[in-house]
Amino acid sequence: MKCVLPSHSEILIVGGGHAGAQAAIALRQAGFAGSIAIAGAEPDLPYERPPLSKDYFSGEKSFERIRIRPPEFWVERDIIMALGVRIDTIRADNHLAITSSGHQVGYGKLIWATGGDARPLPCPGGRLDGVMTLRTRRDADLFKHRAAEARQIVVIGGGYIGLESAAVLAKSGKPVVLIEALGRVLARVAGEQLSRFFEQTHSDHGVTVRVDSVVSALESDDDGKVRAVLLANGERLPADLVLVGIGIVPAVEPLKNAGADCSNGVLVDAFCRTSIADVYAIGDCAAHTNSFADGAVIRLESVQNANDMATTVAKHITGNAQPYDAIPWFWSNQYDIKLQTIGLSTGHEKAIVRGNPKTPPFSIIYLKNDKVIALDCVNAVKDYVQGRKLIEMCATVNIDDLTNTDIPLKEVLQLTTTGE
Ligand code: FAD
Repeated sequence: MKCVLPSHSEILIVGGGHAGAQAAIALRQAGFAGSIAIAGAEPDLPYERPPLSKDYFSGEKSFERIRIRPPEFWVERDIIMALGVRIDTIRADNHLAITSSGHQVGYGKLIWATGGDARPLPCPGGRLDGVMTLRTRRDADLFKHRAAEARQIVVIGGGYIGLESAAVLAKSGKPVVLIEALGRVLARVAGEQLSRFFEQTHSDHGVTVRVDSVVSALESDDDGKVRAVLLANGERLPADLVLVGIGIVPAVEPLKNAGADCSNGVLVDAFCRTSIADVYAIGDCAAHTNSFADGAVIRLESVQNANDMATTVAKHITGNAQPYDAIPWFWSNQYDIKLQTIGLSTGHEKAIVRGNPKTPPFSIIYLKNDKVIALDCVNAVKDYVQGRKLIEMCATVNIDDLTNTDIPLKEVLQLTTTGE
């Protein structure tokens, strides 16, 4: 495998995660025959990140099984993989990228696909020994190793990564306390019914879920190792291992320094172009106008977004430009629960429960102006598949039809369009 950065590459991709890998794959699929190089800060060939808090974390899947493509794929497609290489500086006027060791690479077009770094806990003790985050394979390996010895684990953050990790730890018999600063888990991404469902599911599996709990500091022992989490209300929760899952900070400093417009990530247009000529940005780090969020400028942290933005750029480069307008989707696995989300529920006015949350399958259907904007489907694959059309068609629906589980969602759509 070619793994040294050349002095010039027609396409230079910075970041070898989901978006970067998919950009290279999509370019070759679209017939691009020029040189492609990926500079990736991690030492590993591109791998899937979602299993890090799911079946890789639990040990059910090996690293080989979570690779995005087998090693020979990159060789066969003549894609240079420079691993363990960080791009620190962009000289946009000269079309040059410079690595942290000072190596200069000229580029024709640059695709910035750097994702983000796990946000550190912003309080005293946030970087003590035994306080960890989960973003990379290395993080997952280290955390697994420490968890095997741990007696009391505290997970800070009731988002998907915190919840999934808590599920794996609880299944392996570890005592886990999950702390969420807001009034419910998943508060930023889902409606209250789904939050309460997951809080109950975790409690049923022995996880202590603490909402409305703000961490004020972490306490260390004499060796500088974490031994307790202190809450703003004065409570002290013993902990010899802490996992912090409170989001990411988009990795865009070199682009920002090069003059790219940035605001919570790097701003891109409908073709994922930044404000710098010949520089695109894709994936978790790219802030874009999203029609499924009512035209708000947002970043999406999902495999769907990484892959679809990568395809958008590949098409733009190969002369088949199509604006990015993909419907967002996401999934999460916790215990025997498979959650599938389609659309974005942010700003919903109503959340309708279809089925009974006490006995999945069930779905939460989010409406705005009486139109379906998103669905959270819990072990309800059919709703997920059929609900997509309801969002795409922006259909005005009858709420009684939505709650009637005897009527498949595809029929709700027919009833709606025929006006019955
Ligand atoms: P990344 O995959 O983070 O890749 C960015 C890469 O760029 C990294 O390897 C980084 O080291 C590298 N890099 C950064 N800066 C530089 C630089 N200056 N020079 C060179 N390289 C650099 N999404 C879902 O849809 N479903 C899920 O169930 C799900 N679960 C997840 C579970 C976990 C534990 C995590 C961490 C994420 C999960 N996600 C999930 C989110 C999903 O993995 C991300 O949205 C996706 O990986 C984004 O791809 P990306 O290429 O933008 O960023």
